[in-house]
Amino acid sequence: MSNNKTIYLTASQVRAYKSCRRLYELQFIDCLKPIEEYEPYAVGRNYHSKISSIVKTGEFEKTNDKTDAMAQAFKNFILPKIVCDKTETEFKTRLCQGIYLKGKVDGISKGNIVIEHKTMYGAAGEDFEEKLKIDDQIMIYMIGTGANELIYTVCQKPTIKLRQNESNEDYIKRCYEWYDESKTSIYKIRKTDKELAEKKAELIRIAKEIRRGKYWHRNPYNCKVLACVYDKICENYNPAYMAGFIKKEKVNEELSV
Ligand code: SF4
Repeated sequence: MSNNKTIYLTASQVRAYKSCRRLYELQFIDCLKPIEEYEPYAVGRNYHSKISSIVKTGEFEKTNDKTDAMAQAFKNFILPKIVCDKTETEFKTRLCQGIYLKGKVDGISKGNIVIEHKTMYGAAGEDFEEKLKIDDQIMIYMIGTGANELIYTVCQKPTIKLRQNESNEDYIKRCYEWYDESKTSIYKIRKTDKELAEKKAELIRIAKEIRRGKYWHRNPYNCKVLACVYDKICENYNPAYMAGFIKKEKVNEELSV
């Protein structure tokens, strides 16, 4: 890789690079993705599409799965507490010569406050807010949009399961009933200019490492803790036989910038 190559860094790339260099290579250099979308990603994507529609029109299109109940919970318990002026806003920000930060925030509120919506299984632990304060994605979004504040909303995924002999309709009904205000949370994160300047310097260092990258070593500790969708091709990736994987159309398919 040429040392003059322009680097476009995203929050996903930073997460992958920090977690496992081999994961970064498979996902962002070989540009591979599983043909079948990983279920938690599909749930998150559906939820985001529905809440974006709710913010714009007040309504969402039902798909008869648990994301209907999640979207309704967003409408009932989260939306009344936030003001969202712009939805799904992309950014491309220059960090230094030849290094750019790219991404898409879920929303922007008055006073340039970024809004980010997430889903999670189970309730957030007591230390969740502390972890948000050092979250890379949050600071990347602040740097990318020139903001110092971010509102982070969380909607839990239903932890109830489909019962034996239960119809999908009855299950979805139970999902709706499962929600109350306690299944959602809203956090406000503030960062100083100094904290963001330190993160920016770190991102530039990471981008330069990636630009110099020669060896993408594995970090098996990462997949011991979290499942990795690339585990089947991690050891023996053969471009002539990509069982279960396809090439992405571009490095960051979710972005137009
Ligand atoms: S399976 Fe483990 S070692 Fe391989 S790419 Fe995924 S996280 Fe890295």
